[in-house]
Amino acid sequence: MKDDQTPRTRSPLGGLNLNFLAPVAGDEAAVSMPVQPATAGGGEPVEARVVIVGSGPAGLTAAIYTARANLEPILIGGIVGGGQLMITSDVENYPGFPNGVQGPELMGLFRSQAERFGARIVDADVDRVDLGSRPFRLWAAGVEYRAQAVIVATGAEALWLGLDSETRLRGRGVSACATCDGFFFREKEIGVVGGGDSALEEALFLTRFASKVHLIHRRDGFRGSKIMQDRAASHPKIQLHLNRTIEEVLGKEHVDGVRLGKTDEPGEEVLELDGLFIAIGHRPNVAVFRDWLETDEKGYLRADGATTASSIDGVFVSGDVDDSRYRQAVTAAGEGCRAAIDVERWLESQEAHTAQKLETGAATAR
Ligand code: NAP
Repeated sequence: MKDDQTPRTRSPLGGLNLNFLAPVAGDEAAVSMPVQPATAGGGEPVEARVVIVGSGPAGLTAAIYTARANLEPILIGGIVGGGQLMITSDVENYPGFPNGVQGPELMGLFRSQAERFGARIVDADVDRVDLGSRPFRLWAAGVEYRAQAVIVATGAEALWLGLDSETRLRGRGVSACATCDGFFFREKEIGVVGGGDSALEEALFLTRFASKVHLIHRRDGFRGSKIMQDRAASHPKIQLHLNRTIEEVLGKEHVDGVRLGKTDEPGEEVLELDGLFIAIGHRPNVAVFRDWLETDEKGYLRADGATTASSIDGVFVSGDVDDSRYRQAVTAAGEGCRAAIDVERWLESQEAHTAQKLETGAATAR
């Protein structure tokens, strides 16, 4: 399935209160920024030294750093901005928050900080790019942006099982966002599919609402962190179903259950459920960049390793879109910082090079 066909959750923000996205009251330095596509007036392209695409931890950190370096970045953040943390509940491992923080709240703070330093944030999706020559060109909501440098920080999004019954019942009991939809399953029995940290985290989160959570995994061992495994295994509301695959989501108008296949013995079984949460990983959001930038065997954008430089000079990649290994908010933020520093140095070297060429040209003409 292509990225642009990837199904989205029924309600990506699912009723979350986003008031904290407004500038912090009393913050003298906070400035009011446009949330609609920027225009230069008269349909002219909008020029920028750096355009950042994506508004998760990587993009917003890159915006903070490039804004503080006076590069006047424009960040095109997507219609549904904020990345994966917008559908993450408790974040307990982001440094600086000893009591944890809600994912959307954390992204609101990132955004306020970027805006405070003058980053212009555009809440639109980039639907086309031309990285064939400089300035690079990007189009979002009918506006053309021209940039000397680009930072791609488009992140990754949730994967689905790919069953027809899953698609049919999405929004009717099937979800990929426990934070958005868990509330609807008070005192209900629900299933969570997957064996990584996302599945373990969602299962634990859903115990706040559900009477029982069935954690269904296709193998006999989880790949999530030990601490999360221990918490899930010892939770009185969580029942593990190992070596089980989802063959079909059952129900006409809403989820009634799942038909499970067995991977350790022949046969199938039916589990009655009121809802099913899919938490089986993510796919990098590379659709508009795939034709321009090199990807690795998993489809993630490829950075040169030592820096965040991509296969095109002047285009840098950061965050989950080039990271299939760590995929943490803190590593994404770190990568956004690296990309911003790489851009700053690259622009300096370009500008020094141009100045030198002009000087040589002038000397030749004299
Ligand atoms: P993941 O680690 O890639 O795990 C995906 C899980 O889904 C695996 O257990 C996989 O099974 C299973 N799966 C994949 N495709 C499936 C299919 N078609 N049918 C059934 N099961 C399928 O993804 P993730 O859990 O989203 O985590 C991604 C990264 O984010 C990890 O590095 C993780 O540590 C991190 N993360 C951290 C936190 C946190 O620290 N709070 C929270 C969430 C995520 P197999 O095991 O058999 O391959």
